[in-house]
Amino acid sequence: MSRLRAAAARGLRRRGSGSAAPAGEGSRKGASLREGAPARPHALHLFGDPVEIDALRGRLLTWYDKSRRDLPWRALAAVEPDADRRAYAVWVSEIMLQQTQVATVIDYYNRWMQKWPTLQALAAASLEVVLELAGHMPRTAEDLQRLLPGVGRYTAGAIASISFGQATGVVDGNVIRVLCRLRCIGADTSSLAVIDCLWNMANTLVDRSRPGDFNQALMELGATVCTPKSPLCGECPVKEHCHAWRRVEKDLASASQKLFGKTTLVPDVEDCGTGDCLLCLPAAELWDSSLGVTNFPRKAAKKQPRVERTATCVLERRGHRGAPEYLIVQRPSSGLLAGLWEFPSFPLALGLQEEQQKEVLADHLQAWTRQPVQTESLCFVGEVVHIFSHIHQTYVVYSLCLDGDVVLDTASSPSRWVTEEEFRASAVSTAMKKVLKARETQRGVQNGRAKASKRKRESKLGAAGSAPTGIQLSLRAFLRAQSAP
Ligand code: SF4
Repeated sequence: MSRLRAAAARGLRRRGSGSAAPAGEGSRKGASLREGAPARPHALHLFGDPVEIDALRGRLLTWYDKSRRDLPWRALAAVEPDADRRAYAVWVSEIMLQQTQVATVIDYYNRWMQKWPTLQALAAASLEVVLELAGHMPRTAEDLQRLLPGVGRYTAGAIASISFGQATGVVDGNVIRVLCRLRCIGADTSSLAVIDCLWNMANTLVDRSRPGDFNQALMELGATVCTPKSPLCGECPVKEHCHAWRRVEKDLASASQKLFGKTTLVPDVEDCGTGDCLLCLPAAELWDSSLGVTNFPRKAAKKQPRVERTATCVLERRGHRGAPEYLIVQRPSSGLLAGLWEFPSFPLALGLQEEQQKEVLADHLQAWTRQPVQTESLCFVGEVVHIFSHIHQTYVVYSLCLDGDVVLDTASSPSRWVTEEEFRASAVSTAMKKVLKARETQRGVQNGRAKASKRKRESKLGAAGSAPTGIQLSLRAFLRAQSAP
């Protein structure tokens, strides 16, 4: 629960969510086709016929009414008369669904809604933005995106269409797959041309009288029928509108014609023939018959993650009954890991030697704690690697034990001392949990060494037959001492 709760709370706190977000979530608003591109894509890639659009809407909604899964947020959205509560429930479910699968989300969602059934209940758990909005959800996709932290284009569209009946489309991973197959879009789905095209298509297709159901139906179709690897085209309610499916049918028809010696050519449907189309399959990766409809969509080009190094210091002091306490600081309210707590961390330039890294860290800590920090007092713990979706981050971890409290620079971020238990209950990232684990492992090794060296000392003393007052000899050492001449 804690990982999802942190993620959901972060989502509810943050403006402009980033990683793994559905298309358009955090993407540039109003992005347009690349310079020099045709103003309007070829008809093959569009829904331009109103009669066809009506037919597709009807088929999809009829299928959805019959086949939809019973999900708690859908049930609530259908019967809850209070628009704020409806929108809140959809918001919570959407944030959670961005983290994991439907089956996993159900339990988390139910527990969350039991604990914080309304926006007001959540506001009481200290969400400033909710207080600012006086507990009322904005009513349109535009306002939702503008006013709520962590709400991007997709989440705003989902809340507005499902909770408030706004006729606005949504584009998530499932919708991308369905639309790309329906209209043979084979270009990189992360390109602006494709993202624009898909959002326009979603807005064109969305049913005006049942927008929330239509959007959920499209997503449901992608999740249960038009799946990534094994689509069930035979059961698909919209196959009559699907160019990818028609292309497969055409291949089968051609194969059977060849078998019977006929040569009638069926026109291609997968290539719009414009030559430099920004939406077709790339010229170097044309239609592969063995893939069938899964020719679409093609995988987005993977960007290499950025390499970063960060110096992190586990600052410790002895707390109650000698148990260690750690100083943690809060990250800024926007950007990566916004609002989460962490050990004091400072970015490192790439290529620094170990001594230089220590110097950088000591300088930062000195400025921050306003007391001298010697590089020798920094104990190297190890390196902790954490991969974010777009960053390959290496934390170079040091520990530093302090005798008392420190007076921190008031201009710096909020900070507090926590026990290990409090640390684990705090909104900290997985990376910081790894850092603490590394420090605990180091402490275990240090304690083990200390005990071993103590045993060695005692054993030496025992062998010499004398022991200072207060030191307990082992039984063997005692007997040896007594029997010595
Ligand atoms: Fe997807 Fe097949 Fe339906 Fe086309 S016909 S939308 S590929 S399931």
